[in-house]
Amino acid sequence: MPGSNPIPDTLFIRFFSLTALLLMLVSQVHPFDIYQTLRVYGTDKSTLDILHNVGIPLDHVRIKKGVFIDVIASSEQLELLEQTGLTFDVLIDDMTRYFLERNIPDVKRDFELGSMLGNYTYSEIEEKMVALASSYPAIVSVKDSIGTSIEGRTIWAFKVSDNPDQNESEPEILYTGLTHAREPLGMMNQFYFVQWLCENYNVDSVAQYLVDERELWFIPVINPDGYVYNESIAPNGGGMHRKNRLDTGCGTNTQRGVDLNRNYGYDWGADNSGSSPNPCSATFRGDSAFSEPETQAVKDFILAHEFSNVLHYHSYSNVLIHSWGDGSLPDEPDLTTLREIGWEMTKFNGYGVGTGNETIGYGVNGDAVDWTYGSAGLISYTPEVGSFQDGFWPSENRVIPLCQDQLYANQVFGLVGGADYILYEADASNVQGDTIHLAITIQNRGLMDSDGNVIIDLQPYGNLGSFIQFDNDIGGLPARSSKEIERTLILPDTVPDGTEVGFIISISDNSSFVRVDTFTVITGSPSLLFIEDAETDLSNWTTTGTWGIVLSNPNTGNHSITDSPAGNYTSNISSSIMLNAPFSFTAVDYPFARFTAKWDIENNWDFVRFQLSTDGSQWTSLEGLYTESGAGQGTQNPGEQGYDWQSDWVEEFVDLSAYTEESQIYFRFILTSDGYLNEDGFYFDDFRILGYPNFLPGDMDGDEQQTIFDVLAIVDLIFSEDELNTYQIMMGDVNFDGQVTIIDALVLVNIILQD
Ligand SMILES: [Zn+2]
Repeated sequence: MPGSNPIPDTLFIRFFSLTALLLMLVSQVHPFDIYQTLRVYGTDKSTLDILHNVGIPLDHVRIKKGVFIDVIASSEQLELLEQTGLTFDVLIDDMTRYFLERNIPDVKRDFELGSMLGNYTYSEIEEKMVALASSYPAIVSVKDSIGTSIEGRTIWAFKVSDNPDQNESEPEILYTGLTHAREPLGMMNQFYFVQWLCENYNVDSVAQYLVDERELWFIPVINPDGYVYNESIAPNGGGMHRKNRLDTGCGTNTQRGVDLNRNYGYDWGADNSGSSPNPCSATFRGDSAFSEPETQAVKDFILAHEFSNVLHYHSYSNVLIHSWGDGSLPDEPDLTTLREIGWEMTKFNGYGVGTGNETIGYGVNGDAVDWTYGSAGLISYTPEVGSFQDGFWPSENRVIPLCQDQLYANQVFGLVGGADYILYEADASNVQGDTIHLAITIQNRGLMDSDGNVIIDLQPYGNLGSFIQFDNDIGGLPARSSKEIERTLILPDTVPDGTEVGFIISISDNSSFVRVDTFTVITGSPSLLFIEDAETDLSNWTTTGTWGIVLSNPNTGNHSITDSPAGNYTSNISSSIMLNAPFSFTAVDYPFARFTAKWDIENNWDFVRFQLSTDGSQWTSLEGLYTESGAGQGTQNPGEQGYDWQSDWVEEFVDLSAYTEESQIYFRFILTSDGYLNEDGFYFDDFRILGYPNFLPGDMDGDEQQTIFDVLAIVDLIFSEDELNTYQIMMGDVNFDGQVTIIDALVLVNIILQD
């Protein structure tokens, strides 16, 4: 090894300057490692195996099933790939330069950002921990070492809790980040969460509760050497090193090191596809389980505490991954626990929840989550923060939005570390009468048993009615258990149909968060304002593209409506079907749409949206029971609601009560596709608009009286040359036979004469 023998000073200086010169020369040709985004054509198992064998990690990829897979590869990996015979294109030829050049600086800085594309450098992280502990000494601990990295850097942990320097008997929760050195958002969102807790401690009930009744632990950087190395090769951000910095005989660049997320002891090295025995691979698992001081430190720290649950943060892919890494599913009841808590955590950011195999189509072994769950016995996930577009180093103006995306997930994760109650389900029967029977299911969704008995309080929603006397104490609720209770709400006789009634419930035990939730139903039955049963023609609709009626796939009757009656839809299309007549909801309470539908739409790329417009040109995509958030690629705008993948016939429900002020509402379905896979498309049937009309039948001028002027207005309608719109029909149809005729005028005259 050079330098192990004593070298005369002068010689050393000459040697050093020569080396420096050589390094400079080399770095002009080949500065460290350049990483590219490659589009590899083919997604079958053999293609993925080749990619893995070349050393390319498959945990952050974009897949177009059967067509291509987009991966991130170093220049060395690219050279190896060229010899494999796989076909690929280079989409982005230098990721670090790309991350820096595309950056849009963040202008508003409520949350102080760091100097690497908005992310803190390692020393900024240390300063941040010091600053938090000194600004909020009552609730943030001084940072504490949990171990030392290969190169001798401290791995820090700190705690947020009341009495942060004492070990209280409160549920403990752990959040970790920067296992992979190029994934800084896993660290940034922890500081964002901690700052939110500190600033809202006396303001927000959840912040106050989490600080007072939980011990929240943070290890923002598990891999300080890798992170500092990235700073050294890309001081402004964009460094692409992933592993730790153990010398594994692969030079000094990004090939070196152990993949810490393949070095944990559960199922370590189970096969060579979930981790690699090759020391230069991006997924090199190390020489033995826990061979690395960084993973040892995390293991020792977890075993020395009584954690309830652990989040191991990574980025990116917009998913929340749980065990098992090999793709098999955990046994019940854990599977349901992992899914239910995961779904709640991702309620607002829309991340997919599942195993690595289910969410990104790839398995691992020796990862932190499998060890934390399988060996330490704790509920654990890996959130992968951000989309493929965000990548490892998102633009600076995306840092805060991505941190905000994790705020609710971090809150829920903290709450479920102890007992935590929710209104899991409620059903009302007999809503036509004045005695409403309620079946209410309370769940302890948390990971600890109730502290004493669970106490509920029920108040009638809007002070309408009263509950028959009941016991507030529903007994103890073990972790992850539910209890159904039945209650009776008596309404006053004066409540008209179309009134929102129900209850406000609060649920708590001796030390839990006091959960308040609301359940309501609408009394009476809704009126049908429009129906399309697809049995005759499409005269109610205006279409573009090939929308039509098909005999096949009937729901009720013999026909349904589809975008492509002849077979699959085609590439690069935008085709729509719009209801001709606009609706007015100004005289309708709680309007909603229902339709039956089934679809087969290319997952994550093509999209069908059910949309509403108040001017016929600007459209809003509506959320229903079965819509999903757009993936932000192909024809799916990020977060936009729509339908993709596939379903059997379902009964969709879309709440329209936000639009009761609108007097002109258009509806349409629109299908958009990209240039690749085409599927069978979208079918719908029995399209209905319903609601609770709140007008007097025949009150054409809206003065809340039925007069002779209204009769004259109805007669005007009858003799009108124009086709009546739904609103006119609804108002003028006094005898509810679905049309406006002279009989309606006569019925109205009768009503007026009787008054
Ligand atoms: Zn990662």
